[in-house]
Amino acid sequence: MQNKKHFITCDKCGKDFEVNKIKPEILQVKFRAINADIYYFVCPKCLTVFPITIIDELGNKYIEQLKNLSRKFLALKGSGEELKLAKLIDSMDRKQRQIKNNTEKLKTIFDGEFIAKKVGGEIQVQFFSKK
Ligand SMILES: [Zn+2]
Repeated sequence: MQNKKHFITCDKCGKDFEVNKIKPEILQVKFRAINADIYYFVCPKCLTVFPITIIDELGNKYIEQLKNLSRKFLALKGSGEELKLAKLIDSMDRKQRQIKNNTEKLKTIFDGEFIAKKVGGEIQVQFFSKK
C-alpha cells in the first residue's frame, strides 16, 4: 500500500500540516455499549481535532462484505454474465448505502467534542459526549 502524505490547512489557526490520508490517527471509543474507531487528524500547532469518519463492528462487517462483492465483480467482469454482474452492482450499491447510513447513525451517537492534549510529547485525544 502506498504511504501517501498530504498537507491540510487548519481551519482554526491556519497552519499547514502533513497528514497521512491512508493511515489517519484512530481513537477507540466506547459509548452506550458501542465500540467504535474514530479516524481523525489533529493540528500539531493548536491541537484542533478534525474527525474524518467513524466505524464500528457493524460498519467493518459491511466493509468486508463490500470487498467480497467487488472481488466477485472483478472476477466476473468480461465473462458475459451480464445478469449476474448487474445483480452484483445492485448489491454493492446497497452495501455502500448501508455503510453510509451506519456511519451517519454513529455520528449522531458519538456527538460531542474531541479534545487533544500533549502528554510527554505525544498528542492524546479524548472524546467527551454532549449527551
Ligand atoms: Zn491549528
